[in-house]
Amino acid sequence: MGGAGFLGSHLCERLLADGAASVVAIDNLVTGNERNVEGLKTEGRFELIKQDITTPLTLAGPVDFVFNMASPASPKDYEVLWLETLRVGSLGTQHGLELAEAKKAVFLQASTSEIYGDPLVHPQVETYFGNVDSTGPRAVYDEAKRYGEAIVQGFRRKRGVATRIVRIFNTYGPRMRLNDGRVVPQFVAQALRGEDFTLYGDGSQTRSFCYVADLVDGLVRLALSNEQDPVNIGNPREQTIAEFAEAVRKAAGGGGKIVFEPLPPGDPKQRKPDITRARTLLGWEPKVTLEQGLPATIAYFRTVL
Ligand code: UDP
Repeated sequence: MGGAGFLGSHLCERLLADGAASVVAIDNLVTGNERNVEGLKTEGRFELIKQDITTPLTLAGPVDFVFNMASPASPKDYEVLWLETLRVGSLGTQHGLELAEAKKAVFLQASTSEIYGDPLVHPQVETYFGNVDSTGPRAVYDEAKRYGEAIVQGFRRKRGVATRIVRIFNTYGPRMRLNDGRVVPQFVAQALRGEDFTLYGDGSQTRSFCYVADLVDGLVRLALSNEQDPVNIGNPREQTIAEFAEAVRKAAGGGGKIVFEPLPPGDPKQRKPDITRARTLLGWEPKVTLEQGLPATIAYFRTVL
């Protein structure tokens, strides 16, 4: 679900490369894009179904895994698509769980570091309950994802569905949407166009960026494990957004000056995953450095621009 999105399309590609007999992507193409899976369509084992998962799902034949990667994920997107975000995170997740139940499939829920809100525990461990504002502008996403974890655990405890929960931290790479408003496409596009970098707040807020191939490797390892409790997947290399702007400038070889714009309300001040669980339970850790991942991402955005 969400198979034509940024993460979903990379996951489909990886599953096919791993030799999956068949991969079906279900996507309503609201924030996903058919172009993301264009290359996979020549592959007989791949199919794209254009469907909104807030309507019930039926699939012919056996299903081994259901991955729920469907949701707007950029703060700018989910502010506009507020009701769609709440509906896909609640009803959409339920429909995916019902499909997994009917097919006796493993269900993997893409949860998020937003479960921790504006975190007061740093780095964030899975046992931290978070500091989440239930009425702020991010609430539609955060609360939908919290509901998502709750309904997943319900289907596991009460209906016997085999479930996995991954808490995904900031991820970047090719196929992010150019205008999705997130910092990576935003800064890269600004650098390539020779525009000023729009730094929100004073730029001292931190994020930790994981390259998409590493992230997808974590998803596959988790799906194949027996781990039912949430697992953080992200790159623990933390930096300020001001530092990140300079890293993009260096990698892209361009961009104007830094211009400061107001910090959006509810913007978390710090974020860094504790990946002890991923390391010990899945044998996973990120391999791609920012110095390797940024050029690959910039090369993609050059083709888009
Ligand atoms: N940000 C920024 N300039 C931009 C876009 C984002 O300074 O043009 C900041 C934003 O305020 C946040 C960080 O970059 O602190 C990461 O934002 P993003 O939207 O990518 O994801 P978030 O981690 O906030 O969900």
